Amino acid sequence: MNLKEQFPSNISGWVKYSRYKYSVERGQAVICPHADSQPLVYNPLDAAQDMLLDALNLSRQIKQETIDENQGVLDFAQKYGLLGVCADLPLNDDFFERSMEVYITDNRYDFPTGTMTLTKYLDNFFPKGYLPNREDHLGDLTRRGDLYNALFSRDYSEEKKWIKRYFLSLYDYFLACMDYDRERRTVEIVSEYQVKRLRYTVTAEDKPTLQWIFPSLKSVIDMAMAQCVTSEIKPLRICKKCGEIYYNENARSEFCSGRCRNQWNVYRSRGRK
Ligand SMILES: [Zn+2]
Repeated sequence: MNLKEQFPSNISGWVKYSRYKYSVERGQAVICPHADSQPLVYNPLDAAQDMLLDALNLSRQIKQETIDENQGVLDFAQKYGLLGVCADLPLNDDFFERSMEVYITDNRYDFPTGTMTLTKYLDNFFPKGYLPNREDHLGDLTRRGDLYNALFSRDYSEEKKWIKRYFLSLYDYFLACMDYDRERRTVEIVSEYQVKRLRYTVTAEDKPTLQWIFPSLKSVIDMAMAQCVTSEIKPLRICKKCGEIYYNENARSEFCSGRCRNQWNVYRSRGRK
């Protein structure tokens, strides 16, 4: 099970910068590209599984308070880029090019639901404002257009709070799927999963190829999660020794590593004496 195998054609990459930093805008900690950083285009479908695991394990550590969460969220951005919340949130996906308003429904980022003017909406992501710039061509390079020219620019930022909230909700969702028992609590959480819009195309390459046009990095993580929790194999597992969430398609796998398995066996044999 691999998103890259399912959607082999790469018409739409994602951009990550070599370095990100924190700053404070509107009284909130935001993450944005560092002034000295370089952009890199990559295919997040290759990294979907690692990205999902990193997000889940980061949430687990945040909940257990075993990690510096500011550093953890920054490290995630440095590895994969920002989530793309700006593109992910509005219901009208042509908002940037065609409308003066965005339509927002229930969301995990604390944005008010309803209609918002485009200017007010963009202020949340471009604290210094955004003016189209000829140097911002990464959206065109990834065949995505003007919204992504802006979103992949150095002016774009995301609040740490949004990223953290999204990761924690992903983690709760994962736990509910692991415990799924058709009782009310897990049914409610599992049925919260919603795909607002799914765009795909068929590209004419060596052969006609199905291509998913993912709107955001978040949508790639969501899709990887949806595939894992609906699979018969249930490949996401929680290590019996250290609690780490890991990926293994072998139904009998119980430990994230040989080290954890050995340690578990040592403790168990000591316990017997
Ligand atoms: Zn382990």
